[in-house]
Amino acid sequence: MSRIYNFIRYLYFVLGTKGLIGLFLRMGMLVRRFDLSGNKMKKAILEIEQIGKKYKYESALITPAVILKRHRNFLRHLSDETLEFAIHGYEHRDFKPLSLDEQTVQIKKAQDLYKELGVPAYGFRAPYLSLNSYTTEAVRKNNFLWESHEAMIWNGFSNYSLSKFRHFMANAIHQLYNPFDAQKNIGIPRLQDGVVCIPVTLPDDEILIDRLGIKDLNRIENIWTEILKKIIHRGDIFVLQLHPERFAICRKAMEGLLKKASSPKQNIWVTGMREVAEWWKEKSQFKLTFQNVSRKKYQVHCKCTDRATVLCRNFCSETSQAPFYRDYHLIEEREFYIKSENLKPCIGVHPRCSKTLRNFLEDEGFPYEVSDLNSKCSIFLEEYETFARKDEMTLLSRIEENPNPIVRYWLWPNETRSAFVTTHDLDCLTLTDFLLKAFEK
Ligand SMILES: [Zn+2]
Repeated sequence: MSRIYNFIRYLYFVLGTKGLIGLFLRMGMLVRRFDLSGNKMKKAILEIEQIGKKYKYESALITPAVILKRHRNFLRHLSDETLEFAIHGYEHRDFKPLSLDEQTVQIKKAQDLYKELGVPAYGFRAPYLSLNSYTTEAVRKNNFLWESHEAMIWNGFSNYSLSKFRHFMANAIHQLYNPFDAQKNIGIPRLQDGVVCIPVTLPDDEILIDRLGIKDLNRIENIWTEILKKIIHRGDIFVLQLHPERFAICRKAMEGLLKKASSPKQNIWVTGMREVAEWWKEKSQFKLTFQNVSRKKYQVHCKCTDRATVLCRNFCSETSQAPFYRDYHLIEEREFYIKSENLKPCIGVHPRCSKTLRNFLEDEGFPYEVSDLNSKCSIFLEEYETFARKDEMTLLSRIEENPNPIVRYWLWPNETRSAFVTTHDLDCLTLTDFLLKAFEK
């Protein structure tokens, strides 16, 4: 009886918000994607898991604690397979209006339920990507390894009606997710108070299919492939978001992306969210030290793990160097010499520069030295008393235009150029879940 009651409540809700035609369209869409048994969604989840096995990585299944509890018999054993579970709220509820305490309590409650059900979870994504300035702190207070709700949105796709996309970008998307414009911002993980914040790449399946109404499935694959190319060019991370309820529609596009990303020619790290976060923490411990051994020579010592990728630019070294990315070359050795006229091959940062600048240099793998002497290092930064996301691309260009030698760690391990992961927000499994979600239950 309660299922029927919930269904009637939902009908009234949609009728009130979307009108009669909206109600019929919504009903058609719902019945195509969900059923009362959850079999359609279970099939999609099992297929996502199988694709992970095929391409040797763990997809992230990000689900509210109440959904895990409701379907524990089906979901619980999957956490032993090639799927990583992550928390998506206690129930699927908007985090934006919540205070720090309210968010901490919500996340803790969800974490306790996951623990009770015996499902390990290292990551968190806010429902609706609805973070506010307290979210990372609430995540940190609950000791998560990673979070992923900061959105990077791409646009400007060829062969696509741009006006529709621009219109969409200008309106709904900014109210919904507050994303960064991926054209102008760097999309890499960030270590923030011990939590690795991994951005999610948009447009996802929901924007392309439900909001923009794209019906041609090849177009979806083409759009995602264009994004992949741009991300490889920059060395960023592609965090695909594909809801299991649209998996049947987007399966071909996701497999197409995985095929491209896995090709040895592309040299992309196809991996899982937990692996990315663990790598980012590992990388944060790496050090580079420089010793002036003669007037024209520096000895460089790398304190890092075996899978670190060490790069250099603008110097003549006696060691082997292979071109890697732009004019960066790869160095295999962990101790080597650099010819340099009295300049340490690192970045000098004036003490008055913002902490945000230093955090960014650390995330990017650049060694820096805080000093007010501007003549010691290959490049000296002094004007960044404030430093924001919008300044990052300009700073990287400035470093790349500098003619002096620079050594750094690359963003990704084992000499890979960029990274690719797939994440799947499982908001509902059955039609009943969907109705309950509409009432934040
Ligand atoms: Zn969700």
